[in-house]
Amino acid sequence: MELFAELQRHRRWLHQHPEPSFREQQTAAYIRQVLQALAVPYRTAVETGTIGWIGHGEPCVALRADIDALPVEERTGLPFASQHAGFMHACGHDMHAAMLLGAAALLKECEPELEGTVLVVFQPGEEQLPGGASLLLAEGALQEPAPIMMFAQHVYPELPVGQVAITAGPVFAATDELYWTLQASGGHAAQPNRTGDPIVAAAELILHVQTLISRRREPLTPAVLSVTAIHGGTAPNVIPSEVRLQGTLRCFDLGWRQQALESLRRSTLAIAAVHGVEATLEVRSGYPPLLNDKQATDLVEQVAAALLGEANVLPLQPMMWAEDFAYYSQRFPSAFWLLGVRPPDREAMAGLHHPSFAPSEEALPIGAALMAAAAWRAVKMAQV
Ligand SMILES: [Zn+2]
Ligand SMILES: [Zn+2]
Repeated sequence: MELFAELQRHRRWLHQHPEPSFREQQTAAYIRQVLQALAVPYRTAVETGTIGWIGHGEPCVALRADIDALPVEERTGLPFASQHAGFMHACGHDMHAAMLLGAAALLKECEPELEGTVLVVFQPGEEQLPGGASLLLAEGALQEPAPIMMFAQHVYPELPVGQVAITAGPVFAATDELYWTLQASGGHAAQPNRTGDPIVAAAELILHVQTLISRRREPLTPAVLSVTAIHGGTAPNVIPSEVRLQGTLRCFDLGWRQQALESLRRSTLAIAAVHGVEATLEVRSGYPPLLNDKQATDLVEQVAAALLGEANVLPLQPMMWAEDFAYYSQRFPSAFWLLGVRPPDREAMAGLHHPSFAPSEEALPIGAALMAAAAWRAVKMAQV
């Protein structure tokens, strides 16, 4: 099949040339060259981002693919493995970009009948704060005309090729990165009475903040807190002057998120005071929660059922992952779905961000067709 061969060629080239967030120069050049060959006009957004368009006038519908790779050393053993040492498309953004190029090709063929505009948005920097999506929006790249609907997909190793998962409402969580610093004068381990002890304070703080989830959260509201790093100390006979902790807070409810962060600040100061140490908690806010619009989701469910059969369109349980597509979902009615990429004859496969992650390329034409069909339907629907 001609489309499949094209998609595979794009995907393999992109897979061999992974680039880190916001440094996707070769990737952008490749995408622009393919768009040019398709006679799809485009403009640049956030340097390495590219927005192509098919058709003209309103309504406008947008499709998005992220294009960045991860600092992961590939271990798939594939003949088309990464040629950039230390980097790999371990999150499948090579698949996303190839499928969007495929969708652009499909839509271009039907351009004379397209009564509106479809934007194909190749977005840089999904994997790194502040997220390419927020920069692209801040640049005003999706105004005039603003999309009436926006769609994106993510490859998903838990589902076999031929299935998708989507649900209206919350999909992915809001994230905050937490950075604690506990300081005291430090001193001889034999004289703990002469200094505050940041080690003991850190130990108590780590255990205490667990009660944020068990005691301060509404029982039916999902949230997770993980303390993920402890750094401090050098020797068995020295009380250190500093301990640093890191962690992450993830939830769906923005109101509770504020309460949770205030509660963490209070706990940090109170425990520090008890132990005679100085403490700070720095919060770096990540992506907001990703929310699927009901109408956009219904549309994708119908399109997917028509293409794949109703039994292959599954509900999507909200997850504590984060995705910068959330920024678009705050701005435009949006839908985001997970696309099965597990080879159907396999029970399991390596997960996202894993050095052995190897999605099945059989999913490429499915994802390209879904994107094109969703955009086509959204443009059509706006006219009735
Ligand atoms: Zn990722
Ligand atoms: Zn990803």
